Amino acid sequence: MTLQNKVALVTGSTSGIGLGVARALAAQGADVMLNGFGDANEIEALRKKMAEEFSVTVLYDGADLMKPERVAAIVKRTQEELGSLDILVNNAGIQYVAAIEEFPDAQWDAVLALNLSAVFHGMKAAIPGMKSRRWGRIINIASAHGLVASANKVAYVAAKHGVIGATKVAAIELANDGVTVNAICPGWVLTPLVEGQLVARAKEAGTDVSTEAAKLLQEKQPMLKFTTPEAIGAMAVFLCSNDAQTITGSAISIDGGWVAQ
Ligand code: NAD
Repeated sequence: MTLQNKVALVTGSTSGIGLGVARALAAQGADVMLNGFGDANEIEALRKKMAEEFSVTVLYDGADLMKPERVAAIVKRTQEELGSLDILVNNAGIQYVAAIEEFPDAQWDAVLALNLSAVFHGMKAAIPGMKSRRWGRIINIASAHGLVASANKVAYVAAKHGVIGATKVAAIELANDGVTVNAICPGWVLTPLVEGQLVARAKEAGTDVSTEAAKLLQEKQPMLKFTTPEAIGAMAVFLCSNDAQTITGSAISIDGGWVAQ
């Protein structure tokens, strides 16, 4: 185990990629602060299971990270109740799909608030403690859509491109403070976020979810298979390792060749 005595905050970790990353960090001995929405009993069950399975402390805070003050507060709570914040994984994100001329202003604001502004507020709150301990890892979950665009996803694509820019700035600012900052750029990962898009597509096309899943992959990814949350978690663990201490400011694709095209 490589992350004993480290504390991680993984935003949006009640499902999908965030849950995969939180479990991977806990498996390496990190204490974890979970965050995200969902059924209270289900969240408590997964919190308890993670703590028991990996013999680490796991706490949960259901902060709505669209609110800047809640981002600062969850960082503070993590430091106070788990003793530190060494690994920040900015993962919470939402999607909204519409052409620009039909894109609701409120959805633009919401996607930007969570997918981009919360990353800024999280880094701002976490950096002083990491600098003072001269060790830190910030991992921002961007997307293939941080590097290339698709139609009908203006807020998401703009936010994810912004996340990669913010990652680079933080990496430069912290280059000699023992803190690395990187973005992971997944292609398609089969999570509730993508399942929602598949259901909507199937309804519109009069098909089913598995037909739309195959079409989704064909449209974007040379490799016709989904990445797993576990694979994203494994990359996060590597970025926290000593071998990764000079990897900073990178946007690391895990995308079945999506952005190679
Ligand atoms: P998901 O919907 O399974 O999980 C999103 C998480 O964010 C959940 O825990 C949810 O409760 C939480 N969340 C939503 N709104 C929140 C808020 N206001 N405050 C706090 N938490 C909130 O989605 P996912 O696919 O696991 O996505 C996770 C991240 O990965 C997102 O940033 C997404 O953009 C990115 N991503 C996903 C894919 C993919 O194919 N699934 C690809 C590239 C990037």
